[in-house]
Amino acid sequence: MMGNILVYSDNNNYACELLSAAHNIAPDLGLSVKALSINNDDQAERLVLRCIEAYRIKDEAIQIADTAAVASAISQAVKQIDAPVILLSSNRRGKELAGRLAYIIDGGCLTDVGGLRINEGKLCCQRNALGGATVATQVIESESKVIAIIPKVYDMMAEGGKGTITDIAVEAEPSGITVVEVMPKVKDSVDIEAAEVLVVVGQGLESQDDLPMVENMAKTLKGEIACTKPVATDKRWLSEERIIGLSGKKCNPDLAILLGISGQVQFTVGIRDAKTIISVNTDENANIMTMSDYRMVADIKDVVPELVQKLG
Ligand SMILES: Cc1cc2nc3c(=O)[nH]c(=O)nc-3n(C[C@H](O)[C@H](O)[C@H](O)COP(=O)(O)OP(=O)(O)OC[C@H]3O[C@@H](n4cnc5c(N)ncnc54)[C@H](O)[C@@H]3O)c2cc1C
Repeated sequence: MMGNILVYSDNNNYACELLSAAHNIAPDLGLSVKALSINNDDQAERLVLRCIEAYRIKDEAIQIADTAAVASAISQAVKQIDAPVILLSSNRRGKELAGRLAYIIDGGCLTDVGGLRINEGKLCCQRNALGGATVATQVIESESKVIAIIPKVYDMMAEGGKGTITDIAVEAEPSGITVVEVMPKVKDSVDIEAAEVLVVVGQGLESQDDLPMVENMAKTLKGEIACTKPVATDKRWLSEERIIGLSGKKCNPDLAILLGISGQVQFTVGIRDAKTIISVNTDENANIMTMSDYRMVADIKDVVPELVQKLG
């Protein structure tokens, strides 16, 4: 292979993580690492501190939220920079961008990639398969490869040296989308990955009115409350920052109390490393029971108030 690995994310931290990923594989592929920033001077400055040749596109006609326009801009940059491998971040916008970009440059595309390896000169991508039950190694055979990497898999590349910034021009191709307003996402400040005790609720919790009872239990145990995906994304009772599993956080607390959770593999991949797991479920045959250290076949509503009383 000849040419460059091009790294792009509109998120500054993710772009620095992608630099680490690129540097891990570049020598074995005989490629150099380049980075691209679009309408983000601050990012370009951060990238060159990592001793990188950064390319900068400055064009107000390209809105970052207009993924089609960004994909078009990157495709033009890819030609100018000669990059057979493009690394993006596998967040929501990055995944959409990956598909659009691969289509334009007639390349292959993989998203949700959890690691990159070189095997017999081939770039191998590791991805969760069968809902997270196993890890599959996949190779893009086409010459152009667009790979979106899961955020936080790689550490951000450390600063060291001073690279160069080169401005490049592309023809902006806005898709017709009008961005009316940009608002910062309302974030929950909780860090469930750091918690030693987690009380995790699933859809077995009947009503949102029962949440304070569970929050009280978490507080009594000096822990945090977390949840399965549907509790956050469908019911919207808790923030998405509290989801455990394949599309959420991977946690390894000392104690995890799981309330009304069936134990689908997409959830269990995020909690299987907990030291002690206690499950409360009305169904004695629920999957979660097989991976729990202690099992209570009971109704959450009966168990939680009694436990809080005994613990308090
Ligand atoms: C690509 C993909 C990614 C996904 N990623 C995630 C992820 O990251 N995290 C995640 O959690 N899910 C994820 N899912 C969804 C996952 O497959 C399951 O649908 C989800 O985990 C089920 O959530 P649950 O256990 O809360 O609900 P359910 O499966 O509905 O289980 C509810 C449980 O509560 C019990 N119950 C009912 N009433 C009571 C009561 N009163 N007291 C006690 N127990 C009771 C029931 O017996 C049942 O076992 C993903 C799915 C896909 C396809």
